[in-house]
Amino acid sequence: MLTDKQQERIFLSAPHMSGNEMKYISEAFETNWIAPLGPNVDAFEKEIANYVGVSEAVAVSSGTAAIHLALSLLDVEMGDKVFCSTFTFVASANPILYQGAVPVFIDSEPETWNMSPQALEKALKDASADGKLPKAVIVVNLYGQSAKMDEIVSLCNQYDVPIIEDAAESLGSTYKGKASGTFGKFGVFSFNGNKIITTSSGGMLVSNDVEAIKKARFLATQAKDPAPHYQHSTMGFNYRMSNILAGIGRAQLEVLEQRVQARRQLFNRYNQELSSIPGIHFMPELKHTKSNRWLTALTISEEVTGISVRSILNALSEENIEARPVWKPLHMQPLFKGANYYSHSENMSVSESLFNSGLCLPSGSIMKKEDQMRVIKCLEESLKLKV
Ligand SMILES: *Cc1c(COP(=O)(O)O)cnc(C)c1O
Repeated sequence: MLTDKQQERIFLSAPHMSGNEMKYISEAFETNWIAPLGPNVDAFEKEIANYVGVSEAVAVSSGTAAIHLALSLLDVEMGDKVFCSTFTFVASANPILYQGAVPVFIDSEPETWNMSPQALEKALKDASADGKLPKAVIVVNLYGQSAKMDEIVSLCNQYDVPIIEDAAESLGSTYKGKASGTFGKFGVFSFNGNKIITTSSGGMLVSNDVEAIKKARFLATQAKDPAPHYQHSTMGFNYRMSNILAGIGRAQLEVLEQRVQARRQLFNRYNQELSSIPGIHFMPELKHTKSNRWLTALTISEEVTGISVRSILNALSEENIEARPVWKPLHMQPLFKGANYYSHSENMSVSESLFNSGLCLPSGSIMKKEDQMRVIKCLEESLKLKV
């Protein structure tokens, strides 16, 4: 018997199958395509490319692999600089280290929580003055919200530095009507188990540069030279997606719009029920953008509410509710100790203050309304506003 305290667990972002996945998986089994590559992979690549409106896409084993391939394609090498959003998951920046390159972290700005054009401009100016511009800028769209792409693209064009758009969290989002992930030289999506759609594990690299994606395919399949014997003149990777997993992806993509709607609805309900409490601020949505609201994120001021984020997370955890702090900025991580960091302004580090007061609430599209009300009630109670 479950006691009150042991109610069913509410997850942060559980996978949500459409019901059609087995159809594509069965097809793979019936035709014995139990291999990396195959018809589901080809179709999934085309379907994603069509959906976001780019020329080419290559399906890979993870979002991290896609970022790594993008850096390889941009010839990022030992000692090169790469700029990266600081307020993100470590996977955005690990591939910089794989290449032996040096990350420089760029702060967020308050309107999108994403890369501050102001900080980016300062970093580019400094790098240019040093005679060593970055080989790439990795821009992250946190929790589904697009960064200020107009400003960022314009700055990067000015200095002729290519953009890798880490859209791992923002598939289905738009910026001025254009799909998230299509603003840079390369875009990256993730289909990890907790993302808005999932293949259990997987990723996609997209670009309008057809040749570059062709090369990505080559690199991702061990860089086999076109020869009947096994010949290799370049170092490659084993990064392709399996035909089984691509089948899951095809069925998931069919319901992406519904998943976006469901997550936005969850966000709206949290916002409606909680935003009148003093000291609570939900993650904004920039004008002319549409976030997929992958995770509902908010800040809670300890000064105003008298309760810390840690205590709130503990209270939720006691009710068997999985909530999380926001990402810890990468420039604060022991792994990147000593890395260069550009804050939004001289006396304002936006990512650090968001980290001090931010949290993410359960946001899975599979979550029922009663479950969400349980989360809301628990939050209200811990904020001493008993309903
Ligand atoms: C999930 C995620 C990734 C990595 O994707 P994987 O498929 O898990 O390798 C990269 N960047 C961000 C911002 C992510 O949230």
